[in-house]
Amino acid sequence: MSTPANEPPVIELGNGAVAIAGRPILRGIDLTVRSGEFVALMGANGSGKSTLVRALTGLRPLASGSLSLFGTPFESFRDWRRIGFVPQRGGAGSGVPASVWEIVASGRLTHRRLLRPLGRRDRAAINEALEVVGLSHRANDGVTTLSGGQQQRVLIARALAGEPELFFLDEPTAGVDLPNQQVLADTLETLSVRGSTIVLVAHELGPMAPLIDRAVVMRDGRVAYDGPPLASADVATAHLDGHHHHHHEPERHDHAPHVSSLLDGAP
Ligand code: ADP
Ligand code: MG
Repeated sequence: MSTPANEPPVIELGNGAVAIAGRPILRGIDLTVRSGEFVALMGANGSGKSTLVRALTGLRPLASGSLSLFGTPFESFRDWRRIGFVPQRGGAGSGVPASVWEIVASGRLTHRRLLRPLGRRDRAAINEALEVVGLSHRANDGVTTLSGGQQQRVLIARALAGEPELFFLDEPTAGVDLPNQQVLADTLETLSVRGSTIVLVAHELGPMAPLIDRAVVMRDGRVAYDGPPLASADVATAHLDGHHHHHHEPERHDHAPHVSSLLDGAP
C-alpha cells in the first residue's frame, strides 16, 4: 500500500469504452489502480467485468479512451511479463494431456530466452509456484486427474510462475468448493503481502473478503461504485442512487464486507 507518490499507477484507464459487434458494452470507464492494491471487480452477470479485464490486458480493443500500464501508454507497452492473467476455468482442464508441472511451466515462457531450455531460475520459480498453491505433490499428475478447485490452483500457479507484478483473476472461485476457495485466498494473501497488485473478478468474495482493499462494482457496462468494500445494504443504496464514489487511498479493513447476492438483484 505504500506507493511512492512519484510511482505511476499500475493501471490508468480514462473514459474507456468497448463495443462488440457495434453494440456498446462498456462506457465511460475511469479506473486507476495503484501498486500493491487488491481490488475486487464485482457486479451482476453481464455487467461487463470480463470485458473490462480483457480490455485492460489488451485482449479486447478499446473503442475509445486512454489506457496506460505501469505508466506506459498501451500502444507502446511491451513488458507483458509484468502481468499475469488467470482466465476463467476450462482452459487447462479441458482434455489437455499435460501434467500439472507442464501447465505451470507454460507460465514461465515469457521469461525464457529464445530457444533456450528452462534454466535453474525458471525451475525454482515453477516449483515455488506449485508450493504456494499446495500442489507440489501432484506435479507429475495429469491435470485431468485433479478436481476443479485444484485445476483452478494450477492456473494460478501458472500465472505465479511468471512472477508478475500485476495479477488479473477472472472469477477464480466460481464453482470451487470452500476448502479450495480458502487455499486460493491464502495464495492471494501471500501475493498481496509480497506487494503484488491484484484485480480479482468475483461475484461473491467469500474467503477473499478480508483481503480486499477496494471494491469496484460494475453495472450495465459502467462503474456504479468505486470505494471501500461495502456491506450489502450500502451496495444496494449505491445502486439505487447511482452513487459513484471515488476513493484513491483505500485502507485495509479488518472485518469482512458482506457484499452479497444483492448484486444480482440490481435492476
Ligand atoms: P461479466 O463478466 O460481468 O459477466 P461480460 O463482460 O462477460 O460480463 O459481458 C458484458 C456484456 O457483453 C454482456 O451483455 C455480454 O453478453 C456481452 N458480451 C461479452 N462478450 C461478448 C462477445 N464475445 N460477443 C457478444 N457479446 C459479448
Ligand atoms: Mg465474466
